[in-house]
Amino acid sequence: MVSLENVERAYGGEPPVLACAGVTLTITAGELVAIVGPSGSGKSTLLNIIGTLDRPTAGVARIDGHDVAGLGDHDLSALRAYRIGFVFQQFHLAEGVSAVDNVADGLLYTGVPRGVRRRRAVAALERVGLGHRLGHRPHQLSGGERQRVAIARAVVGDPPLLLADEPTGNLDTASGAAVVELLHELNRQGTTIVVITHDTELAARLPRRIAVRDGRVVA
Ligand code: ADP
Ligand code: MG
Repeated sequence: MVSLENVERAYGGEPPVLACAGVTLTITAGELVAIVGPSGSGKSTLLNIIGTLDRPTAGVARIDGHDVAGLGDHDLSALRAYRIGFVFQQFHLAEGVSAVDNVADGLLYTGVPRGVRRRRAVAALERVGLGHRLGHRPHQLSGGERQRVAIARAVVGDPPLLLADEPTGNLDTASGAAVVELLHELNRQGTTIVVITHDTELAARLPRRIAVRDGRVVA
């Protein structure tokens, strides 16, 4: 699913930063992996490269069988729209928009008609245990519920790869644990999942951990 070979990501500036300093790793379809490390160690940079939101400045990133260096922006957008789901710490839901419409928006770029988008959104919300909150807008939901809406949006198109950057970072312990349990459940149903976290307790509950420090894999 993911193969990185000596991947580097340099940011210009004085002094320049090598946020990713030569990372080689493989993630196989069906895995549930945590990327762990202190703040500033390059976790988000790594996840953005895996999600093709960013390109390496050196090395080879192969995602879902594609060398990202060989894909133009249009093909990369298609890869993201159909093959990769994203979840972020800040939820990124549209305010004033119902849960079902927030989730349906996850299919905007796939050319699926509106009625089908909404039906699939309802199914995705049921999958994350929010079938009873379809019409709720983000301000009417708890933090944990908002993150579950965001997860429903990320998986509504059934992407084989789900990437989550600190998905429990804004949640209390109980809601965070529920989100982690949901990730486990989605993984059992076949989705390959990569989760960034600096929460060591959360990471300890995942079957594989990749530890990064100063842009390198250290364990
Ligand atoms: P983490 O997610 O582990 O906290 P990041 O991947 O966000 O780490 O950042 C890794 C390093 O790269 C940090 O030192 C950060 O300051 C630097 N960095 C991240 N994004 C940029 C950018 N757009 N421009 C310059 N430096 C950046
Ligand atoms: Mg980060």
